[in-house]
Amino acid sequence: MAPAEASRLKTTAPGVVRRHRSLHILRLDTVPHPEGGQACVFLRQHRCAIHPQRPTTCRRFPFGLVATPAGLRVTTEHRCPCRSLGPRPLLSLDDALPSLYGSSGRLQPDLTLGPRVRVEGRRYLSFQRFVAEVEGPLLEALLAPAPSFEALGAPYPDLDEVSWGDVAHLLRGYAEEGSSGALAVGLFADTLLSLQGVTTKARRARPWSWSFDRAEARGGPPRQADEVLGDWVADVLWSLVWTEHGSFVQGLAELATRLAVARELGHRLHHRLGLRPDRAAAEAVMCAELVGALPLWESVRASIRAAWSSNT
Ligand code: SF4
Repeated sequence: MAPAEASRLKTTAPGVVRRHRSLHILRLDTVPHPEGGQACVFLRQHRCAIHPQRPTTCRRFPFGLVATPAGLRVTTEHRCPCRSLGPRPLLSLDDALPSLYGSSGRLQPDLTLGPRVRVEGRRYLSFQRFVAEVEGPLLEALLAPAPSFEALGAPYPDLDEVSWGDVAHLLRGYAEEGSSGALAVGLFADTLLSLQGVTTKARRARPWSWSFDRAEARGGPPRQADEVLGDWVADVLWSLVWTEHGSFVQGLAELATRLAVARELGHRLHHRLGLRPDRAAAEAVMCAELVGALPLWESVRASIRAAWSSNT
């Protein structure tokens, strides 16, 4: 949350803004939720008590806006079961538009793309060619009823000076903070660590499970876990957010890694706890998406780039 927004909220409700111990970011305080775990201090009976004055991040969630040379793109985040689980009417532009205007009253993109896209090394394509030749076929494969993740390539690309095990340990350090977000990071970190061959005995609570209970109770036919995962990966690519962190191929390698961990975490939640496969996958996606937004993960992306340049 931006400092100005934090000051505004502190004035109307003193004591609600906290600084994360290790991430040094400002966030709203959480309190125990009657259905388990922690929830935002303003959540009352599943509704926001400050809805008209809620922070910008909440106002925009789960939508995002990207300005491309071919027009504006609306994107969605998947960390909330409102997006990833249970039957819901298709999102329409009318749903999204009110969230996408800035305080100036104009549509406010989160990202503005130039005319060319860096695919790999010194290979660039015009945005239009990139969409037609690279992005389009990939999105089609990811959004198929039985998605194929092969085109993403291998997970766990080389890192500069650290290992993926080191990354898992650093993430576990963040998880000590104890909030619901930290629990999600911890679940991801434990899974990443075990995929690197280190067994952990950690038993963590699952954050916001009451929210997933409600989404599951909406009914509707279950989906395959891979459908939930493919939908998420396609939206991350569609958001073009990876263009801020390096080439397309590097973005795929980073995403393939979070996908591999999310897939394994989903398997575990399904097999060990008996969660429905699509629900287990949706909870795993929530963890992987939160990790992708951490400042530490920015360093992971930088480390992928650095290792890539020294290897080529
Ligand atoms: S919309 Fe934001 S401020 Fe309101 S309850 Fe949810 S997280 Fe809290």
